[in-house]
This record gives sequence, structure tokens and C-alpha cells, in this order.
Amino acid sequence: MKTIGMLGGMSWESTQSYYSALNRGINQQLGGLHSARILLHSVDFAEIAELQARDHWDQAAVLLGDAAVAVQSAGADFLLICANTMHKVAPAIQQRIDIPILHLADATARALKADGISRAGLLGTRYTMEHAFYRERIEAQGIDVVVPEAQDRALIHDIIYSELCQGIVNDQSRTRYLAVIDSLADQGAQAVILGCTEIALLVQQQHSKVPLYDTTQIHVNEAVAYAIGQDG
Ligand code: GLU
Repeated sequence: MKTIGMLGGMSWESTQSYYSALNRGINQQLGGLHSARILLHSVDFAEIAELQARDHWDQAAVLLGDAAVAVQSAGADFLLICANTMHKVAPAIQQRIDIPILHLADATARALKADGISRAGLLGTRYTMEHAFYRERIEAQGIDVVVPEAQDRALIHDIIYSELCQGIVNDQSRTRYLAVIDSLADQGAQAVILGCTEIALLVQQQHSKVPLYDTTQIHVNEAVAYAIGQDG
């Protein structure tokens, strides 16, 4: 079994989801007392969020690149960046290490494609919804990406930082998210990507008739398969 490197803490609320889902996934595959081999580097999210807000992506890339080098040196076989947003600097991180990054947007595109989805809504931070780095990798697989209108993007973004990344799960916010998901479906989205690793803390498939693609679980599924050598 390969050792999974994780860059976590972005936020630690979703890193908890990753940690338990990775262990559960490995245990489901191997049974008994098996659990995942993991090396986790967990950052102080306040530093990352500030660099994002100031548009200092180069500095964020250095900070996460240093962490990735440390995780590689400690013996990880491959790396998960446990947040959609920070894949903006995935190419810069990859340049610093030899082990592969299992890219979250590529994993999501593969999951959508496998289900025959050709038009998907995208929810996430405003960086993920508005910058090209994420959607272009989905679109490269022939899938159209629809994002909410500006006012809804602001709402989705604010709830991520002021609530979900701080462990606050609020019914009113869920209702708002579900309204945005419905409006994406009205625009022809056959499915909606929960493109932020905290969103599944708030919204799960049972809340919506629109098919939801939880990027945390998708990332974990691919990581588990890769770790135990079922990646083809
Ligand atoms: N975990 C989130 C994501 O998947 C947001 C936190 C961040 O900005 O890194 O994008």
C-alpha cells in the first residue's frame, strides 16, 4: 500500500472528513484492522486565507511547496492537496516535488464523464468559480461548466469562510445553497459539483434531487484506489 501525503488544514474541518474517509475507504478495500498510511501536513488556514484575499498566490505556492517537499521527504508516495481552491497553485507545487499530485479537478472531471454528464454547475470559493484554473480542467474533458450569478457567488463564498471553515453548519445557509443549486439546474446543469471540500458538511445528496458531486469523496475514492494499486 502506498503512503498518502496530504496538504491539509484548508480548512481543518474538511481535513477531518478526508482523514476519516481515507481510512474508511482503505478499510473497506482491505478489511480487518487495515487503515490508510498517511503523512499529513496541516497548515494554519488564516495565513492561506489572507494570501488568497490579497491575491498573493505566489507566496501561497511557496508555503504549500515547502510543505509538499517536507511530506515527500518524510516518505509520501503521492500527494493530495485537500482543497479545491489551492489547486490554483498545483503546477507550482508539482515543480518542487517528484511524487505525483492527484489533481482534484481531474478526478472530478473523470467522475462526471463516467456518468455521462456534459453540463455541470460549479459551487466553490469565488476563486474556484471565477478563475480559470479549475473550470478549464473540467472543460478540457468536454464538460460545460455553469457558475452562479455574481450575487449568488458572493453568498456561496461568504458561507464557506464565515461558517463552514469554522465548523458552523446552519439550516438557513443550506436553504440558500439549495436555491442556488436549483437555479444551476434551471440553466441546464445535469449535476452540480460541490467544488469546495467543506460544502458536503452542509449539503448532502439527500437534500437535493439534482445529482451532487462531492469533491472530497471523489478525491478520496481515487486516492484509495491509487494507494492500493487499483488505478489501472
Ligand atoms: N476547502 C475549500 C476548497 O476546497 C476552501 C478553503 C480554501 O480556500 O482553500 O476550496
